[in-house]
Amino acid sequence: MTVHFVPWSTSNNLLEETGRLYEEAGTFDCIGKGDLVAIKLHVGELGNPNYVQPVFVHDIARRVTEAGGKPFLTDSNTYYHAQRHNAVDHMNTARMNGFNMAPFIVADGLKSENYRTVKTKGILSEIEVSGAIAEADSMIVVSHCKGHELSGFGGAIKNLGMGCTPQAGKFRQHRVVGIEIDTSKCVGCAKCKAACPMHLPDIIEGKARNTSAACMRCPVCIGSCPMEAIHFVNKENLSKALASAAYGVLSTFKPDKVSYLSFAKDITQYCDCLPNPGEIMMKDIGIFASDSPVSADGAFLSMADYEAFNEASEVDCMIQVQETKDLGIQGDVKPKINKLN
Ligand code: SF4
Ligand code: SF4
Repeated sequence: MTVHFVPWSTSNNLLEETGRLYEEAGTFDCIGKGDLVAIKLHVGELGNPNYVQPVFVHDIARRVTEAGGKPFLTDSNTYYHAQRHNAVDHMNTARMNGFNMAPFIVADGLKSENYRTVKTKGILSEIEVSGAIAEADSMIVVSHCKGHELSGFGGAIKNLGMGCTPQAGKFRQHRVVGIEIDTSKCVGCAKCKAACPMHLPDIIEGKARNTSAACMRCPVCIGSCPMEAIHFVNKENLSKALASAAYGVLSTFKPDKVSYLSFAKDITQYCDCLPNPGEIMMKDIGIFASDSPVSADGAFLSMADYEAFNEASEVDCMIQVQETKDLGIQGDVKPKINKLN
C-alpha cells in the first residue's frame, strides 16, 4: 500500500505541494455528497506551538467542502486536568490556537459524557468511542508526528486510539500500564502526593504506596519524586492498547471512509498534550498522505530517526504499528513511499 509524500521544503510553496499530494493520494475520495466529515486533529495544549499549522487545516476544510462534505473540526477531551479537559476550555484553546475555519465540535461533549462503547480486539476487549466520531460519515485524520513518553511516538494510530476516545476510554488504555514504587528509595517526603491530581499515593509508615484503582497512570508523580523511586512497568502495553482502541474507532466507519494526513514537522520529544513538549528531536521531514494508519505511521518511522524516540521513552515505536497491523487493519509496516518531486 503506497504512501504519498512531500518533503518539508520551504524552497517550495507547501500549500501548492499539499494540493498535489492530496490529488495523488485521493485524500478526499472518502467523502460522499452531504457527508458530515470529521477533521480529527489535536489543537495543541496552550503554550505548545508545535501542533499542525492552522493554514493547512483551513485548506483541508475547504477541500472537504469542495468534495461535497460538511467539515467539522474535532477532538476529544483530555483525561488529565489542563486546558482541554472539558468542552468549554477545549473550545477556548482551539480558538486561541487558531482553529476557527470550521465548527469545532468536542467529540465527547461538555464533560466527556457523550460516547459509544464498542467491541474491539487485542489487549482490550471493548473501548469507548467519542460520540461525534462514531456518528461522523467520514473522517480525515490530521496528525502531528512527534515523540511520546509512554508509547515512543504519536502519529495516526495514536490520533485514532487515544484522540478519538473520551476520558473513560483514555483511562481504560492507560490502566494497562503498571506503576511501581521502590520502597528502598522512598523517603516518605510526599512530594508525589502533593503533585498528583488524585492525591495519591498514600504515605503509610513513611513510605509511598499506590494500589488505587483511581490512579490514571499519568507521569506526574514520577517527575515529582526527588529519589527517582517511582517508575512505570509494562509501558509497551499502552502501544498495544492504542492499537486495540484504533481498531474499535475504525469499526464505527464504513470501509474506505477514513483518510490520513500526517505532518512530520517540529518533531518534539514529547506530545502536543504538554505545554512544554521538550526538545526538537530531528529535522523536519514532510507530509504523508495515506488511506491506512499502519502505512502512514510506518512511512513516518521509516524516514525518522526513531531510535532516538525509543531511547527517550524506552518503548519500541514499532510495537503500536505492528500490533495495529496484526489486529487486521490494512496497511504496511514498511510501505512503499511515493515522493512527489
Ligand atoms: S500516575 Fe502518579 S500522579 Fe498520576 S494519578 Fe497515578 S499516582 Fe497520581
Ligand atoms: S516523592 Fe518519592 S520519595 Fe517522596 S514519598 Fe513519593 S515516592 Fe517517596
